[in-house]
Amino acid sequence: MAIGGSDAGISAGLRARELDPDSEVTVVVADAYPNFSICGNPDYVSGEAVRWTDLVHRTADDLKATGMEVRTNTRATSIDVSGRRVAPRKRDGRTELLPTTP
Ligand SMILES: Cc1cc2nc3c(=O)[nH]c(=O)nc-3n(C[C@H](O)[C@H](O)[C@H](O)COP(=O)(O)OP(=O)(O)OC[C@H]3O[C@@H](n4cnc5c(N)ncnc54)[C@H](O)[C@@H]3O)c2cc1C
Repeated sequence: MAIGGSDAGISAGLRARELDPDSEVTVVVADAYPNFSICGNPDYVSGEAVRWTDLVHRTADDLKATGMEVRTNTRATSIDVSGRRVAPRKRDGRTELLPTTP
């Protein structure tokens, strides 16, 4: 389980899958733009990157192909360390406890 789906969260998920291809990795992302290069925002504002989609390191299909489950619009609201669970809340307010990988 990784909380956050930018560079750190996606890298952690990819590394976990690399070390153990059978591991189940879920990445919860508060926003709708996983693996998005925020460093490239100035390029978009200046017009150097014409399409904002050019700032995506990996598309949703690329991420799916890695075997990770990426849940967008899902914000972690609490972490139960001893119970190894994370409580993410969807944008619509629904919550669901997710187990973390041991
Ligand atoms: C304009 C700009 C230029 C930059 N240029 C460079 C550069 O040239 N070189 C460089 O090394 N670095 C650069 N950086 C810094 C670099 O972008 C950051 O260090 C890097 O993005 C950090 O990655 P991160 O995954 O730790 O966090 P972030 O990129 O901040 O991602 C956080 C992720 O966590 C998610 N999240 C947050 N809270 C929750 C929650 N409760 N539940 C679920 N998801 C959550 C967010 O939606 C997001 O997906 C730049 C940054 C900016 C803004």
